[in-house]
Amino acid sequence: MSAPATESAAEAALRSVLHRARQAAERSGRSPDRVRVVAVSKTKPSDVIRHVYNAGHRCFGENYVQEIIEKAPQLPEDIEWHFIGHLQSNKVKSLLAAVPNLEMVETVDDEKLADRLDRVVANLGRKPLKVLVQVNTSGEESKYGVDPSGCVDLAKHIKLRCPNLVFSGLMTIGMLDYSSTPENFKTLSNCRGEVCEALGIPEEQCELSMGMSSDFEQAIEMGSTNVRIGSTIFGPREYPKKDGIQ
Ligand SMILES: *Cc1c(COP(=O)(O)O)cnc(C)c1O
Repeated sequence: MSAPATESAAEAALRSVLHRARQAAERSGRSPDRVRVVAVSKTKPSDVIRHVYNAGHRCFGENYVQEIIEKAPQLPEDIEWHFIGHLQSNKVKSLLAAVPNLEMVETVDDEKLADRLDRVVANLGRKPLKVLVQVNTSGEESKYGVDPSGCVDLAKHIKLRCPNLVFSGLMTIGMLDYSSTPENFKTLSNCRGEVCEALGIPEEQCELSMGMSSDFEQAIEMGSTNVRIGSTIFGPREYPKKDGIQ
């Protein structure tokens, strides 16, 4: 039997996204190997994810703890999961315990969360966990993400005080409505300069996670090493009514 249309559509869309990402990297004079595509599978069922997996993709992103806890155990262990949603300290233990193949948490935005992740990684005896510092680049009042002026302190805290975490870079969502402007990308890139100088690390060791479906090529041209792409690969999402945009 042939695969359902949505699944083959996702596979074709993945190939197109990978191709466009590679071309954008080349346009900006960078190696395409330095740009990772995180396939954002939130709200999508495991069988659709498996189809994209079978097409060869290994990196997937989720942003609800409950959802990744349910789906990850149904899917292959060599998936590299990225957690890209807001993470509450009291959910850290269940997340890390249920998803041993969690590769990265992209949304660390305060010391308390970093400390909690650090302690739980140690208690579980798992390998060090890669983390990104989430930066609010919108200039708008938002509950999530550190202000650009706070990114150095938080990166330092992770690097110096959280031995079970690997500080791996910076992430931004952009504006509150999840759109982005070139200013958002520029701000994150400037933050990288400050963080690398303060920590004494080369820029290649500080990733930039920026860019989504509608703007990932521009984000790559402006230095993104990690684009998070949902609807362009998986099609539009249907949300349960109470949850709103994210
Ligand atoms: C949903 C989501 C994405 C993907 O959004 P698309 O516009 O569907 O590509 C990227 N990043 C975060 C943090 C998200 O929550």
